Amino acid sequence: MIYADNAATTRTSAAAQKAMIDTMERFWGNPSSLHTPGQQAKEALQAARKSVAKAIGAQPQEIYFTSGGSEADNQAIVSAAKAGALKGKKHLVTTAIEHHAVLHTMDQLSKEGFEITLLPMDESGIVKVQDVVAAIRKDTALVSVMYANNEIGTIQPVAEIGALCRELGVPFHTDAVQAVGHLPIDVRTQNIDMLSLSGHKFHGPRGVGALYVRRGIPLLTFIHGGAQESGRRAGTENLPAIAGMAAALEDTVTHMAENTAHAEKLRDTLIEGLSRIPHSALNGDRERRLPGNVNFCFEGIEGESLLLLLDDKGVAASSGSACTSGSLDPSHVLLAIGRPHEVAHGSLRLTLDVDNTMEDAEAIITAVTDVVNYLREMSPVWKALQRGERNYVIQ
Ligand SMILES: *Cc1c(COP(=O)(O)O)cnc(C)c1O
Repeated sequence: MIYADNAATTRTSAAAQKAMIDTMERFWGNPSSLHTPGQQAKEALQAARKSVAKAIGAQPQEIYFTSGGSEADNQAIVSAAKAGALKGKKHLVTTAIEHHAVLHTMDQLSKEGFEITLLPMDESGIVKVQDVVAAIRKDTALVSVMYANNEIGTIQPVAEIGALCRELGVPFHTDAVQAVGHLPIDVRTQNIDMLSLSGHKFHGPRGVGALYVRRGIPLLTFIHGGAQESGRRAGTENLPAIAGMAAALEDTVTHMAENTAHAEKLRDTLIEGLSRIPHSALNGDRERRLPGNVNFCFEGIEGESLLLLLDDKGVAASSGSACTSGSLDPSHVLLAIGRPHEVAHGSLRLTLDVDNTMEDAEAIITAVTDVVNYLREMSPVWKALQRGERNYVIQ
């Protein structure tokens, strides 16, 4: 099987597995206990915190471990909203292409009386800094713009938005779940106030993540109970997962330059190969995208049939977000960048990384080309397009 769905989750690396087993064997104590096994566990916890902090240019005391990217997004946004509301600020700014962990949190806050501005997108899938400027008001409590998109891989101008927000005194959060471990990040120079990350998107275990919160930015307690995580997130720490995540991150950050060069080569080969399919189009900006991200629309076919037939041919791919697949709604990201419904349904996301080879890329091009041709032969829509009874959306 060729695994080409690394944006959904990644294989747990050897470094992460080793750290997890090591931690289970040696640091099984409760980090809150005062005895020696407890204090040893606490030291392992602090070592992991230091390592995660270093990977993004933060201080250890600015890192709060969570159950994953979703929880980090929820806590960052709800905390900033509530802190803002205390000062009469009930306006939040985000983009139309965020992950549902952000968008659904915003929806909930809008039901609770907050006003949300969704920044629009053009075809590139990259937010315009001047749109952020225009959206910010005196009562804006938070700007949340993702670092890189999980479906179309587009990289947002985070440092520019960070500088702008800092100048205007508005807290800035970024969902960097797809970026951490894949792109160089420095929360200091990029003026990031809050950042979400998740272990399983960079070859760590799932069910663990972290929220970075710059010192001076208030963070409200999200899960109430014990005093863990400086009283901001109760619950006995999942130390094996935390240590596994830290080891995976250290490993990916150390090899980032070569991993990026490798993934970019595979990505560019795939984009070139799939562009040769008639009436196909790449989704999202060609240049400013994640190293391993390829996302295409093919006119006249159904994304779901495409995935099932690719699976039969030994290619594990996705139609977009793992969270929306299974539902009949087309991707909100593709709709936001202007793809019409019927075309957004025929989308395919391939996300490659260090585990993939050039042979994988070549085999994927052949498999996708064959499956698209096969599905089009059976598609009444495709026949109508060919007879000129309908107009092509993708030229
Ligand atoms: C995967 C993902 C999340 C959710 O992270 P979990 O750890 O799975 O909860 C949030 N945002 C983005 C951009 C993601 O890709």
